[in-house]
Amino acid sequence: MTAVENLEVAPIPLRELTTLRTGAAPARMLEATTRSELIDALRDVWRSGDDWFVLGGGSNLFVGDEQFAGAVIRILTSGIEEIPSPHEGRVRLRVQAGHNWDELVAYAVARGYAGIEAMSGIPGTVGAAPVQNVGAYGQEIQETLVEVELIDEGADEPVVVPAADLGLGFRTSVLKHHYGEAEARRAVILSVTLDLAVTGEAGRVIRGDQLRRALTLEDFDPVPLEWIRSRILATRAAKGMLLDEHDPDTHSAGSFFQNAIVPEHIARALPPECPRWPVEPDLDTMTVIPLDSYHGLTPRAEQPEAMVKVSSAWLIENAGVRKGFKLPRSRASTSTKHSLALTNRGGATAAELGELARFIQSRVHAEFGLLLQPEPVLVGVDL
Ligand SMILES: Cc1cc2nc3c(=O)[nH]c(=O)nc-3n(C[C@H](O)[C@H](O)[C@H](O)COP(=O)(O)OP(=O)(O)OC[C@H]3O[C@@H](n4cnc5c(N)ncnc54)[C@H](O)[C@@H]3O)c2cc1C
Repeated sequence: MTAVENLEVAPIPLRELTTLRTGAAPARMLEATTRSELIDALRDVWRSGDDWFVLGGGSNLFVGDEQFAGAVIRILTSGIEEIPSPHEGRVRLRVQAGHNWDELVAYAVARGYAGIEAMSGIPGTVGAAPVQNVGAYGQEIQETLVEVELIDEGADEPVVVPAADLGLGFRTSVLKHHYGEAEARRAVILSVTLDLAVTGEAGRVIRGDQLRRALTLEDFDPVPLEWIRSRILATRAAKGMLLDEHDPDTHSAGSFFQNAIVPEHIARALPPECPRWPVEPDLDTMTVIPLDSYHGLTPRAEQPEAMVKVSSAWLIENAGVRKGFKLPRSRASTSTKHSLALTNRGGATAAELGELARFIQSRVHAEFGLLLQPEPVLVGVDL
């Protein structure tokens, strides 16, 4: 038996491995529990020329009802390695891709390493976290991500890629793609390196408004990381954003639609009650002027129109789709706790969830002229 044959398993239906609970068993499945097994599995699948994707915790995937005809590689690696940071008072953690994200947060918080505590309770794996630049309560992985080790499809060896080259943006990166659609860097993350502040038991001062509101903080005294973590976990549970086998409101992919990011003049046309937040402008204002068109004058820097993030939950509810809404005879509904989450109430097909998603998109579009974009990665589904 070859090394790769040992990694082959009887394909498990994807509805059992994804939190939205849809999808049949793929044609082929491999399970990798070590870094070298993962590389071997990828090389084998790439050689075969079959379609493929990697699966972490399945919490950001919306899989169609038709069988995926290619190979699914489950990433089951784990391990955290502490390495020195070149910056004083900081530490680096190199974490294998299949490591559970929330276990990593718990590990960091228990040691007084700050920078990811507000992202407590996000489901899934560490390797998937940079794929959509995970974030919660104003904290995103891009603030602490140093680099990832990844292997590009077809490449012989892994490479280390700095975070700055990953095109990280609001719930996106160059690695996020909907299979069969937009081009993206076809690569698999093997490990992730984070740089965290060592704060110890004192904790840290919270400045960000979003996190301060979530924690109902009034002063600017340092707060312990453990306290932040437990408050965030409780808040997430109340919103159905913490995975719970017994709570169907969590049988979702988290927020199904992204908060819409629109130019300021579009946001101004929305009702004033719609919550909105300014989007930090891109600070990369460098302009390259080709020498043959340079006549001694530097053109005035163009001021791009400010962008605004608007609450898609508000848009959905004010387009008449309330929490717990479902179409007649459908087993899919919006969460009873959060209108941004589409949930599987038991046995819903991808077709039923897709129908609900399209209904919401069309209601919001008719009412406010905005087309909401799905946040999960779509496999074999069109929206
Ligand atoms: C209840 C709930 C709450 C959530 N809350 C949040 C939240 O607060 N903030 C947030 O940002 N997200 C949230 N999510 C979404 C989800 O948890 C994150 O996107 C998470 O990072 C997905 O990890 P995963 O391992 O489950 O990825 P998967 O769903 O397994 O995969 C997602 C995509 O990443 C790819 N991928 C997975 N691993 C790798 C790898 N190692 N290298 C390259 N590509 C890879 C997959 O092929 C797929 O395209 C929530 C989801 C749920 C169900």
